[in-house]
Amino acid sequence: MIRAGMLSATVLIGVLLSVAVRADSLPTDPWSNLMLTPSRGPARVIGRPWDGCIAGAAVLPWRGPGYEVLRPGEHRYFGDPATVRFVERLGLRAHAAGLPMFYVGDMAQPRGGPMPSQHVSHQTGVDVDIYLILDTDPTLPMAARQTLEPPSMVLPDQSAIDPSRFGPGQVKLLRLAASDPAVDRIFVNPAIKQALCKGYGAAGAGNHSWLHRIRPWYGHEAHFHVRLHCPAGSPLCQDQPPVPAGDGCDPAIFAWWRQELSKPKLAVPPPRIPPPLPAVCAALLPAS
Ligand SMILES: [Zn+2]
Repeated sequence: MIRAGMLSATVLIGVLLSVAVRADSLPTDPWSNLMLTPSRGPARVIGRPWDGCIAGAAVLPWRGPGYEVLRPGEHRYFGDPATVRFVERLGLRAHAAGLPMFYVGDMAQPRGGPMPSQHVSHQTGVDVDIYLILDTDPTLPMAARQTLEPPSMVLPDQSAIDPSRFGPGQVKLLRLAASDPAVDRIFVNPAIKQALCKGYGAAGAGNHSWLHRIRPWYGHEAHFHVRLHCPAGSPLCQDQPPVPAGDGCDPAIFAWWRQELSKPKLAVPPPRIPPPLPAVCAALLPAS
């Protein structure tokens, strides 16, 4: 998840470029305020991560081996069963690899759909945010877990990772996540991708084909965003076009980022109107 208070002006503009402006008149409330439980029946992912919904969502337990959910009061720990299994698998693998437990941020609302926040995607239950902080506290009281804001892993000017925060443990966690066959792609801050491309934290050791799935994008300073492939049994789920071949370390992939960093003052982009959801999503809302 991206929180405006944590962002530099540069990144905030970047986030706005990819973020819908959600006026009160836009139909976000039914998904966040009225739909507090998943619908019944088998799980079905409908549409794309930025304009879709999910029927029969599974619930990620707030705590499991190797992970804990942050801000459970926001009711965003729902998703396709494959997403729940992915988090549980990553927790077990991270624990087995000797990593501390990690915090899980947003997945999706009980029936998916748009969120009343800056988040555009996370609408279909195939997305999950994993925080990069590994200085975690298993005894953190629930009230503190509700308000904790994990720190950024990049320098304030966004030019590089902060080596006092981002180290081999974070690289190991990213490697474990990106090596999971259920994963389609993972979004990270460009400074993090750049560090991985340079072999930071032993990222280049051994088989580093996993770098292919790590994609640089705006924000994502404190967490990485995992997007899974469309699960089996969801014919209405739409995958993104495949990630281009290669490790994604070609300098051209960072061109847009360098442009953003070099701008002294960024123009405010025009508002983005969210696309309509697939018509079948209406069946998950109360009849009006
Ligand atoms: Zn995310």
